[in-house]
Amino acid sequence: MKYIPTVGLEIHSQLATKTKIFCGCPTAFGGESNTHGCPVCLGMPGVLPVLNKHAVELAMRMALLTNGEIQKRSYFARKNYFYPDLPKGYQISMFEFPLIKGGYIDLKTENGPKRIRFNRIHMEEDAGKLIHVEGDIESYFDVNRCGVPLIETVTEPDFGTLEQVSLFLNQLKELLIFSGASLGNMEQGNIRVDANISIRPQGQKELNTRTEIKNMNSFVNALAAIEHEIARQTDIVEQGKKVIQETLLYDPVHGIIAPMRSKEEAHDYRYFPEPDLVPVFVDDEWIDRIRSELPEMRNEKRNRFIQEHGLPEYDAEILTTSPDIAKYYELVIGEGADPKKASNWVMGEVLRILNETRITIDEFKVKPSMLAELLIMIDNGSISGSMAKTVFDEMASNGRHPKIIVAEKGLTQISDKGELKKVIREVIESNPNEVEKYKSGKTNLIAFFVGQVMKMTRGKANPQEVNVILREMLS
Ligand code: ZN
Ligand code: MN
Repeated sequence: MKYIPTVGLEIHSQLATKTKIFCGCPTAFGGESNTHGCPVCLGMPGVLPVLNKHAVELAMRMALLTNGEIQKRSYFARKNYFYPDLPKGYQISMFEFPLIKGGYIDLKTENGPKRIRFNRIHMEEDAGKLIHVEGDIESYFDVNRCGVPLIETVTEPDFGTLEQVSLFLNQLKELLIFSGASLGNMEQGNIRVDANISIRPQGQKELNTRTEIKNMNSFVNALAAIEHEIARQTDIVEQGKKVIQETLLYDPVHGIIAPMRSKEEAHDYRYFPEPDLVPVFVDDEWIDRIRSELPEMRNEKRNRFIQEHGLPEYDAEILTTSPDIAKYYELVIGEGADPKKASNWVMGEVLRILNETRITIDEFKVKPSMLAELLIMIDNGSISGSMAKTVFDEMASNGRHPKIIVAEKGLTQISDKGELKKVIREVIESNPNEVEKYKSGKTNLIAFFVGQVMKMTRGKANPQEVNVILREMLS
């Protein structure tokens, strides 16, 4: 490589509070346009914002998990700019005195460890949403996102490869989700990435002019955009021209990087301290409490699953891909299901249906207690493994209890010895030739007899039991 890329990231993450950062409006996604609004988030004259304490606590969790320094005193500031998605004419953010300074995330790259340092993590509110309908001369405004609480994580320009960016984003997302700081739902805009990019010739120490790509809402897009921009800058330099500092947007559909309209760029935000909010004071006691309340992180969970539930590493890895799946699994075994069998079912059938139907585990109709009930029914022989799959699919589609489905479909497995003996006797009596052959040494005919029994019971006989009884009666 002739040029070394240098990348810094700014990541906006939505904090998982129920209400907005400065008012009581809900943050819930998917509400009808302009139903989550009030005079505060619309910035009406005379209203006063009140800081959501829980939002501060969620931001503090991220500081503790990334070794950031929580400031004893921080201030909100007004970032002034005019844009129709911002009814107040300013965004309440933090500027000179952010809540968190420093911190880092350590990566394990293919070329060894790499530390990505944080400059800061500050709190701010989100803007509203503009909706432009193609062919329509009017645009629409939705207040619902106005005042949704965000943290903005600003890294140092420490990234030198796309691998590092990718590892970092995934690790940050994992921290956000497992700490409970954010739902981390990319489709709902919970995480947005801006990137600063420059390139310099091998051997040159000082950084060259950088550009900024804004508002990438998926990691795939972010990586593609950074890759494109490195290539674009390389082309410019190769042609003997200079990269100019500008803000760019990446169009993932066409794979093009283009400058933002100058109207969307505002370099002078005329920041000043927000006069309507008092400083945020944090003492050690509060920090200690937040530390003691930190949820179990993925590594801890994975190790515990191996030790406590005796799971192989592979299972523990998959079951801890999200805290929700891990929780679901533990509820299933909490209801008495065998840990390894429960793991197989959650990794296999449960995740398969979630993937196929693109629903969350909360929307999944098979509740943990129902799956446990099904697994226990397999274990005590009242249904077979293959019947269980049928029952499970039905449970997933209509949410009914396994016992009810089994009873209605007459799927109960026959394990009763007396009942099985009756059927087996009939099979033996009506196949004298095969019995003769079996007795003269063709013992693999056992499969034929099992088949006949299964046929007569319409697949309901417990095959293990049938095998045992058949061998007994044939000898
Ligand atoms: Zn509001
Ligand atoms: Mn921001």
